[in-house]
Amino acid sequence: MGERTNQSADTLQRRGLMFILSSPSGAGKTTLSRMLLEADPAIKLSVSATTRPPRPGEIDGVHYHFVSPERFQEMIEADDFYEWAEVFGHRYGTPKGMIRAALKEGQDFLFDIDWQGTQQLYQKDQQDVVRVFILPPSIEELHRRLRARATDSEEVIAARMERARAEISHWDGYDYVIINDDVEVCFAKVRAILEAERMKRQRQTGLIPFVRHLMG
Ligand code: 5GP
Repeated sequence: MGERTNQSADTLQRRGLMFILSSPSGAGKTTLSRMLLEADPAIKLSVSATTRPPRPGEIDGVHYHFVSPERFQEMIEADDFYEWAEVFGHRYGTPKGMIRAALKEGQDFLFDIDWQGTQQLYQKDQQDVVRVFILPPSIEELHRRLRARATDSEEVIAARMERARAEISHWDGYDYVIINDDVEVCFAKVRAILEAERMKRQRQTGLIPFVRHLMG
């Protein structure tokens, strides 16, 4: 065996990426995000700030930073957000926080944000953004999932369906589109995208010294 380099290709220095998962509600995005965060310790959730009240089981600082409308407005004025948008009557935003510095250190972030936020992030930082859109297999299945989810009235479900259709219309602003027919299969596809994107040459900032060393 020839002389080995002292660094394996898996540990090469690289830039982190901003991995965006968007979908209409009911397409499985929340489940997929949770699965990804559990399976892959190298990616962290970007915790958004929101003016929407917490749902049962949601923890401040873990799922969202829950803030008052006044505080949110202050954060806008202080230029604290990477992007923000109004979604279904509440405001949601990505705090700048540590993201930029952490990306440079190779930390990947998962963003569970809507199409408006995706557009804004992409405009600001094209090279680090990977945009993935999840579609339901059919409108009937989406309806079934939205109905199964809650004890809501037909009216509420109809309003959710309308919103879902509106979200779906933005499918073409994404790099990858996956139809979520089977959650395990869909999850494998999400992971394959993430793995491939990590190997993009321009993200692998450690390649130059690595190859230099290889060539002796
Ligand atoms: P929910 O209230 O169900 O948690 O989220 C409602 C919608 O807001 C989802 O489509 C979610 O992706 C989106 N959202 C959550 N956080 C952000 C954010 O920081 N920015 C943007 N633009 N959308 C967000």
